[in-house]
Amino acid sequence: MSVTQSDLAFDQHHIWHPYTSMSHPLPCYPVEAAAGVELHLADGRRLVDGMSSWWAAIHGYNHPQLNLAATQQLEKMSHVMFGGITHPAAIALCRRLVAMTPQALQCVFLADSGSVAVEVALKMALQYWQARGERRQHMLTLRHGYHGDTFGAMSVCDPDNSMHRLYQGFLAQHLFAPAPPCRFDEEWNEQDIAPFAALLQQHADEVAAVILEPIVQGAGGMRIYHPTYLKRVRELCDHYQVLLIADEIATGFGRTGKLFACEHAGVVPDILCLGKALTGGYMTLSATLTSRQVADTISKGAAGCFMHGPTFMGNPLACAVAEASLTLLAENRWQAQVNAIETQLKQQLLPLATQPKVADVRVLGAIGVVEMRKPVDVAQSQREFVERGVWLRPFGTLIYLMPPYIIEPEPLSRLTAAVAAAVR
Ligand code: PMP
Repeated sequence: MSVTQSDLAFDQHHIWHPYTSMSHPLPCYPVEAAAGVELHLADGRRLVDGMSSWWAAIHGYNHPQLNLAATQQLEKMSHVMFGGITHPAAIALCRRLVAMTPQALQCVFLADSGSVAVEVALKMALQYWQARGERRQHMLTLRHGYHGDTFGAMSVCDPDNSMHRLYQGFLAQHLFAPAPPCRFDEEWNEQDIAPFAALLQQHADEVAAVILEPIVQGAGGMRIYHPTYLKRVRELCDHYQVLLIADEIATGFGRTGKLFACEHAGVVPDILCLGKALTGGYMTLSATLTSRQVADTISKGAAGCFMHGPTFMGNPLACAVAEASLTLLAENRWQAQVNAIETQLKQQLLPLATQPKVADVRVLGAIGVVEMRKPVDVAQSQREFVERGVWLRPFGTLIYLMPPYIIEPEPLSRLTAAVAAAVR
């Protein structure tokens, strides 16, 4: 089945795309297939993918082992309800998740998407304090954070550069500390935690949890901050007995050079949100993990259970592919792959920092960010990237890359060369 002009016209007229106007939609490029690190356009052109479909396709597209897991599961059952039923795919996946995450995180809640994983985490924190008989209804989070597009998740996104203004009155009110000022590779300055510490001290008895993206703040600005900041946050949460929720939906599964970004700081959260790369980018699935103590406390509360249970919870197809993706990660090639990407990104992107239109360049693991002084024209730059045979999608002032881990040096050079050309 090929995409015709009439299909594209239908798409423009009837189908909403992410953050897109229905009356003046940005152009969309028809992709008919994808394999390895390439997207195949309907007109025959092939693009080197620099986005991993928004952090997800870490092993590349059309992977034989992931395909096999999906087709084998499909022959057994694609879905069955999770209420009162369990199945081998969910058990195998959760065994792996419990084994690969910190020892303290023993209980797994499977849900549909990253945003829902965040909703689940927030609800866990609220039910935890309810069960302990304490009225703690606020979250403390960081400016420039991003946690998803559902209401709970939106309420803890950056209040200025997100959707707070649009939904004023509907969003829960939470506390926002300034974004961490200290860069990953700078010398740590103890003063940098002071505003966070002061806010937590002031509101400790009303804060249910601190929620943050460890080390890399993604969609809120692609900011990469110092591990000691995260270490101090953990210490302060312990001191004031506040739960720490780590949203590793973007950073999890090796992207930052560690399996989980919390490892950069040697901290363990009380609640961990995973998504995106969980299924190797094949389909939507998320997991929220917590400790036995948090889970037991919630279960002793008035409700006697955790109050969440989506229709597609533990979807067997998604679980089977996720398990296969984690099996690939366990083969442990990702570490060398991500290190090699990091070295090459540093070599090829950091020199762009001297360009007059560039405000900053930063690299961590398989993430490269070029921050421009002025917002990038998405439609125009996307057209130019496609002409150069690469797939990148800038937002705001940011041109950023997070390629599949399997990318080889030559296609990665094509991506960085395209960024360099765009910057100049
Ligand atoms: N948290 C973070 C850190 C994310 O980057 C995202 C997605 N961009 C989400 C949550 C929401 O995930 P989803 O889009 O799957 O709902």
